[in-house]
Amino acid sequence: MPESTAPVLAAEDLPVETHDVLVVGGGIAGIESSLELADMGFKVLLVEKQPSIGGKMFLLSKVFPTLDCASCISTPKMAAAAHHPNITLLTYADVQGVRKHGEGDFEATIVEKPRYVDASLCTSCGQCSDACPVLVPKEFDDNLIARKAAYIPFDTAVPKTAVIDLDHCILCGQCERACPAHAVNFLQASRVHHVRASSVILATGFQLFPAERKKEYRFGELPNVVTAMQMERLLGPTRPYHAVLRPSDGKEPGNIAYVLCTGSRDRTVGNPQCSRVCCMYSLKQAQLILGALPMADVTIYYMDIRAYGKGFEEFYQQAKGMGVKFVRGKVAKITPEADGNVGLWYEDTEAGGVRKAVHDLAVLSVGLLPNPDAGKVMTGEEIKLGEGGWVASEDENRHPTATSVRGVFVAGTASGPKDIPDSIVDAAAAAAEAVGYLHQARRVKPQPEKVVACPA
Ligand SMILES: Cc1cc2nc3c(=O)[nH]c(=O)nc-3n(C[C@H](O)[C@H](O)[C@H](O)COP(=O)(O)OP(=O)(O)OC[C@H]3O[C@@H](n4cnc5c(N)ncnc54)[C@H](O)[C@@H]3O)c2cc1C
Ligand code: SF4
Ligand code: SF4
Repeated sequence: MPESTAPVLAAEDLPVETHDVLVVGGGIAGIESSLELADMGFKVLLVEKQPSIGGKMFLLSKVFPTLDCASCISTPKMAAAAHHPNITLLTYADVQGVRKHGEGDFEATIVEKPRYVDASLCTSCGQCSDACPVLVPKEFDDNLIARKAAYIPFDTAVPKTAVIDLDHCILCGQCERACPAHAVNFLQASRVHHVRASSVILATGFQLFPAERKKEYRFGELPNVVTAMQMERLLGPTRPYHAVLRPSDGKEPGNIAYVLCTGSRDRTVGNPQCSRVCCMYSLKQAQLILGALPMADVTIYYMDIRAYGKGFEEFYQQAKGMGVKFVRGKVAKITPEADGNVGLWYEDTEAGGVRKAVHDLAVLSVGLLPNPDAGKVMTGEEIKLGEGGWVASEDENRHPTATSVRGVFVAGTASGPKDIPDSIVDAAAAAAEAVGYLHQARRVKPQPEKVVACPA
């Protein structure tokens, strides 16, 4: 193991920290709840299990239906959360369990994983990464390209601190020798945080449907079958190739197919629910592709288009106006064809008949599944899950963000598929509910009424 003079961090019995609200999950919903609460003067502990906050929104290219740049919206919010005096940020940390002792009294044990880099010394210069000889698939680009075992998650990560991925590290010590700040510390240990909070917000988000589970579509086997999240990265402003290329041969695709409802509304994979965002993000990507590759053909294979929100129908019509083709038919299977192309077999429910169409790239519009973490955070009391495994609302009509445990609220997609605006509204509602609860639990004294002196 490379030699290090940095001190070993104590792994236990750090002092108990107290906060008004513990927010679990640093995606857009968790960030929004934290900022709302912090702006009202409440002390928030925001815990994220990844090395950076940002969640899935940070991976996106642009957002429907406005086509605003996703990272231009999320980056200022991430920075605001990191610098807010009322928010304590804990990243790369696992909430091991939250126990309720009484109203307004929750105790959490949180394990902060070692980065093997001293965050107080790291200047995010990236020299450790440049020196590291080990290549690993890069999660942030949905494994389209590689990162090093010593890495900074992405350019605008918050916090922008390097991480050493010990699962892949060969302990050659090159990063440690290259680091001008002497920040690399292989002796760093996990830190256990014992935390007390008066309320909890679960913002643990969603998981993407694993496309390989829909075996007929042969994701992972045919290189030119990709997921919509991979296409988000190919289209994003921080995209890996600065172009839309198909994986098998690096060619610009000229004839692209979208397969809607991959893993949604599909009992064969155990998920009958609609994922609500896939129709719209596919319409968005189709328009962005036509912007990047004006000569391309884009065909969307769909069961029905669910353009349910404000401006969504107009967005759908805009895609049609730009020349996106729509074929009403569920794709049954995808087969390999000559030159790396893919064959889509489908029943055309408008023209009739089973048909095959050949494309040079197929994009699977994967659905949203619940993150099982949400149901596991509490110990002792049960967070009830509803249909499909999403966190259930205790009172859908009057308190939609309340869970089965009083004082624990749910924000964003932890309670079901949602787009970004709905996740943000939900996060603000959860913050407001938490404040109401704090007052009721008498942990927070109401502000004394102001006595206004008579100007006369
Ligand atoms: C391909 C694709 C394209 C999309 N395009 C759009 C679009 O154009 N417009 C739009 O409005 N919506 C779009 N969406 C939907 C959008 O991504 C979601 O609405 C949004 O990301 C939901 O945010 P969230 O915070 O609820 O969840 P997430 O983004 O999933 O964030 C949850 C966070 O919690 C963390 N976490 C989970 N468990 C724990 C734990 N136990 N402890 C600590 N942290 C934890 C996760 O690491 C993550 O950072 C798209 C979705 C997909 C899949
Ligand atoms: S660990 Fe050292 S080399 Fe790596 S980014 Fe931080 S300061 Fe730079
Ligand atoms: S010690 Fe590990 S992380 Fe550092 S350069 Fe070698 S392989 Fe990379």
